[in-house]
Amino acid sequence: MSLTGIHLLLTYKCNAECDHCFVWGSPFLEGTMTLEGIQAVYNGAEELGTVEHVYLEGGEPFLYYPVMLRAMEEARALGFECGIVTNGYWITALDDTVEWLRPIAEIGVMDLSISSDLFHGEEEPERQKVKVVEEVARQLGLPAGVITIEEPCVEETPGEKGEPIVGGSVRFRGRAVAKLVKGLPRRPWQELNECPYERLDDPKRVHIDYLGYVHLCQGLTIGNALEKPLAQVMSEYDPTSHPIVGPLLSGGPAALVKRYSLPHEEGYVEACHLCYVAREMLRPQFPEALGPGQMYGEGLE
Ligand code: SF4
Repeated sequence: MSLTGIHLLLTYKCNAECDHCFVWGSPFLEGTMTLEGIQAVYNGAEELGTVEHVYLEGGEPFLYYPVMLRAMEEARALGFECGIVTNGYWITALDDTVEWLRPIAEIGVMDLSISSDLFHGEEEPERQKVKVVEEVARQLGLPAGVITIEEPCVEETPGEKGEPIVGGSVRFRGRAVAKLVKGLPRRPWQELNECPYERLDDPKRVHIDYLGYVHLCQGLTIGNALEKPLAQVMSEYDPTSHPIVGPLLSGGPAALVKRYSLPHEEGYVEACHLCYVAREMLRPQFPEALGPGQMYGEGLE
């Protein structure tokens, strides 16, 4: 396996509670990764010898600005490229935004991704924020981009078999399952027989949260990088014997239903919807592989 990317979930805390959020980010969550924890993860990444870039994400990483900056500095000092994903809540007037971004420009990032969409706020203020950050990024020479999450919708165009399909770029995991599936067309559960988005057999990037959990996909874990070196977590990972990944590789989320005889509905919006619902049911049986609780909305709903 050759991991090239680490995505640090510095915190699950966020100033917003977006309906599409994979990780149930919320103002009501606490906790951030310590500098010591970040260093431990970086040491493990260095030992692997294949990691090229580190992304700082959340929750909202700008809520822990000094820690985020230091995490960037350390990453750059070790030769990793660095990226940030933020909802841009801190973007206000042009001059103020310059002050937020100047230290980041000085350290150097390969990517500053700002997620801006109608889930985050009103349309016109969002447009204004995008304009401000684009101007500041231009002034500072920062490679900034805007990610737009489109609201899920039923496409006019029929699918291959003539059935309606769900458009938009939302993936149905985390809070999106609780908030967005209602009224959307569904596919028979037996057809959801592969994982469409993750390289579970040979992951190229993992998410590591502030508790140290190493996630292949949000809430699907293979170990803890604060309890043992990341290189060891990766070398001990055996996809076929993992209780969740094994079935997913053999037949997608539908195989989880079959392997563990899970109760199910007749249809789900897409593979991730069934996968998330199945994993929620399996958490008590496989707590080591499915966590932490907040990835499943524990304590929030
Ligand atoms: S099918 Fe499951 S493991 Fe694959 S991307 Fe969707 S939620 Fe993640």
